[in-house]
Amino acid sequence: MTHEVVLIPGDGIGPEITRAAQRVIAAAGVDISWHEVQAGAGVIEQYGTPLPDHVIDAIRTYGVALKGPITTPVGSGFRSVNVALRHAFNLYACVRPCASMPGDGSRYDNVDLVIIRENSEDLYAGIEFDADSVGASAIADTVKKQTGKELGPQTAISIKPISRAASERIVRYAFEYARVNGRKKVTAVHKANIMKCTDGLYLHVARDVAAEYPDIAFEDKIVDAACMGLVMHPEDFDVLVLPNLYGDIVSDLSAGLIGGLGMAPGANIGDGCAIFEATHGSAPDIAGQDVANPTAEILSACMLLDHLGETTAAARIRAAVRVTLSSGASVTQDVRRALTGSYDGAVGTVQFTDEVIDALSRMVV
Ligand code: NAD
Repeated sequence: MTHEVVLIPGDGIGPEITRAAQRVIAAAGVDISWHEVQAGAGVIEQYGTPLPDHVIDAIRTYGVALKGPITTPVGSGFRSVNVALRHAFNLYACVRPCASMPGDGSRYDNVDLVIIRENSEDLYAGIEFDADSVGASAIADTVKKQTGKELGPQTAISIKPISRAASERIVRYAFEYARVNGRKKVTAVHKANIMKCTDGLYLHVARDVAAEYPDIAFEDKIVDAACMGLVMHPEDFDVLVLPNLYGDIVSDLSAGLIGGLGMAPGANIGDGCAIFEATHGSAPDIAGQDVANPTAEILSACMLLDHLGETTAAARIRAAVRVTLSSGASVTQDVRRALTGSYDGAVGTVQFTDEVIDALSRMVV
């Protein structure tokens, strides 16, 4: 059967790693008809926007996409295309499994956790007001009237919306994920001791939902303590469910527990649509040099294959990646440095992918 999938190569290292993922999928014998579309800064001149309508239309038509990272200008410029895509398709759940692999170069060999990040609200909602803007001064007036607190001059404001509905949806998703995937515990991460209204609501909702799942253990942790716990004893964690911003930060922290961003896959899931992409960004510092680790994107492609029902191919690819990494002979520079302290002896993106494809030919699962 031929699957129809949208491909967004992205920019930076995106084209290199999505190409690697496509090659591995083809070598696994899965027939995908790729509908390639471009988004990001590179298309603004042609379409007047980094996210043209035909990209949205393609994803709406096929309902599933493999995506490379897309650069977002820092501090000014256009808003994140990545966030806009999640909003456009209501991809409310970001699922990021982090599991140790032999040879991943990490300090740990016992990590097996899953980050479930709320994708639709929180400080990522994009409701912001420049210092000195009319909006900021209107909000400052309201704050003064309602609370008596005065915001100083030249204060920029970001709004942190946390709703009961979105909190319930993501926590329920985490518990359902735990059930379906044989997981034992869900940890809700928050800062409800300080943000009593927003994170407080999230925590109350999490506790209520948890009561409906007596077969799954539940705990909550304040985000700073959770970070320390992850670094000290990652084996204590199973499924973590977090509001958007903590989810973003703790995702990268957790990637660091399994060898780095080059190893951490992900998926953005909604009702009727899913976009698969690595946790990492476009890595402009290493783009175009054939040094990026494609493992995170290849493992994201495995999540895509599971989603398409191609579970055997996904399992074979994961096994081939494990074999390639555990041999230690052909790894990209990020893993090489973690293993030996130096880049010497590392292989490039293409050669690593060749090795995975070679291992794949011997994989029967
Ligand atoms: P980044 O994740 O791109 O890179 C952080 C560090 O990790 C860099 O040193 C990079 O070289 C390294 N790294 C990342 N992926 C790697 C890989 N596959 N192999 C080896 N090393 C890898 O984060 P950043 O530099 O903060 O962000 C760069 C751009 O990416 C920004 O514009 C940011 O907004 C964007 N971004 C996009 C997404 C997305 O498309 N979903 C996600 C995060 C960041």
